[in-house]
Amino acid sequence: MARKIGSRYTAHQILGRGSAGTVWLGEGPEGPVAIKLLREDLASDQELVGRFVQERTALLGLEHPNVVSVRDLVVDGNDLALVMDLVRGTDLRTRLDRERRLAPEAAVAIAADVAEGLAAAHAAGVVHRDVKPENVLLDMQGPLGPGGSHRALLTDFGIAKLIDSPRRTRATKIIGTPDYLAPEIVEGLPPRAAVDIYALATLLYELLAGFTPFGGGHPGAVLRRHVTETVVPLPGIPEELWQLLVQCLAKAPASRLRASELAARLREQLPTLRGMPPLDVDEPDAEPEEAAETPDAGEPQTPVRARRGAVPLVPGAKTDSNRDTHTSMRVPAPDELAGGARGTARAPRAAGAPRPGSARHRAATRRRRLIMAGAAVALAAAAGTGAWLATSGEDAAPAQDTKNTAPASP
Ligand code: ADP
Ligand code: MG
Repeated sequence: MARKIGSRYTAHQILGRGSAGTVWLGEGPEGPVAIKLLREDLASDQELVGRFVQERTALLGLEHPNVVSVRDLVVDGNDLALVMDLVRGTDLRTRLDRERRLAPEAAVAIAADVAEGLAAAHAAGVVHRDVKPENVLLDMQGPLGPGGSHRALLTDFGIAKLIDSPRRTRATKIIGTPDYLAPEIVEGLPPRAAVDIYALATLLYELLAGFTPFGGGHPGAVLRRHVTETVVPLPGIPEELWQLLVQCLAKAPASRLRASELAARLREQLPTLRGMPPLDVDEPDAEPEEAAETPDAGEPQTPVRARRGAVPLVPGAKTDSNRDTHTSMRVPAPDELAGGARGTARAPRAAGAPRPGSARHRAATRRRRLIMAGAAVALAAAAGTGAWLATSGEDAAPAQDTKNTAPASP
C-alpha cells in the first residue's frame, strides 16, 4: 500500500517501528529513502513535534559514512516525516539478539565505525546522547569489513542537542537509556561528548559479553551502579582491548578517550583479534528484584534480564524495557546515589575481599544488589512517582515531563 508523504515522497512498505513512529521504505526524487513517519495521534503534540524537528536540526550538515544522513523534513497536513538515507540491513540489536555475542574482531570493527561517526558528530558540535545497539544500523549491501562485519551507521539523533545550548544544561532531568548512561549524567552534570564514549564502550562490552556492564533490574539501581560500581573483567579478553574499555568506562569524563582516538585505537587492535571466537562468558545472575528466591538460594536455572518499571518515550508506546529511551528520569540525590556505606565502588579492593568476577564476588554483588534494589524500591515508595522515575505513562508524556519531573536534588 503506497502512501504519499508531502509532494515529493511515496512510502511503500514498513521497515521498522520505533517508539515515536514508523519507518517506511520510500521513494523520493533522488531514489529510495527511509521515511520516519511520526505517529498520527502524536503529530499534534507540540513538544514531541519539536523533538522530532530537532532530530533533523541536530543532523544538518552531518555527512559521514558512519552516520545515517537526514535528507528532508516533511510537514504535510497531519503527517510529519523525517526523510533519511536508506540503510539496507538490520539494526545491531537484532544482530545481537540473534548471535548473543559477537566475535571480538567484528565487535571492535563495529565499535570503530560508530566511533568514527561520533567523531564527525562531535566535531560538528553534536552529542548523540543515546548511543545503543538499537540506534546502530548495519549496511548489509555494502562490502564486508574486518571479521565479516557490515558497515555500521549511527542513527536516531532525536535527543541529541547542540553543545552549549542552554536548555541542555538543565540539571534536574535525565534523558537517555539507563544501561548506557554515563555517571556524570546520573550525577546531574550536563552531557558532553564523553557521554557518547561511555555509551559506546558500554555497547562494545555488550557486543563482547552479551550483556551490559551495569544493566538489569530497576532503572534506579542501574543508574546507581554507573556511579558506584566498577566494571567486572571479561574472561579471555585481550588485555589491550580490556584497558581500552576500562579507560572509556572511566567514571571521570576527562579520563575517557576522544572519539577519533578511540576509533584509531580500536582499528589498531583488529589484526590481533583476527579469527578469535566469541568470548566464553557466563550470563549474569538474575536480578534480585526480579528473582523470587533469596540471595542464598543458589544460582537461578534461567538467567532473567529484568525489564520493568521503565518509562516509555511517548505515551501509549508498546511495552517498555530498560533499553528504551527514557525522558522523565530525575537526577538522584547524593545520598540515594551513595547507597549508604557501600557506595564506594571506586575504592580499590580491600585485602581479602573477593576478586571481581570470582564466585564469591558474584555472590556478594548479588547480595549487595538485593540490598540496593530494596533501598531503591523503598525510596520509590517513600517519594511516590518522583523517586527514581516518573512511573505512569502520563507522567512520561513529553509535553508534561518538565512539569512532572521531581524536584532537583538538594
Ligand atoms: P525510534 O528511535 O523512534 O524508536 P528508530 O529510528 O530506531 O525508531 O527506527 C526503528 C526501526 O526502523 C529501526 O530499528 C530500523 O529497523 C528501521 N530503520 C530506521 N531508520 C532506518 C533507515 N535509515 N534505513 C532503514 N531502516 C531504518
Ligand atoms: Mg531509535
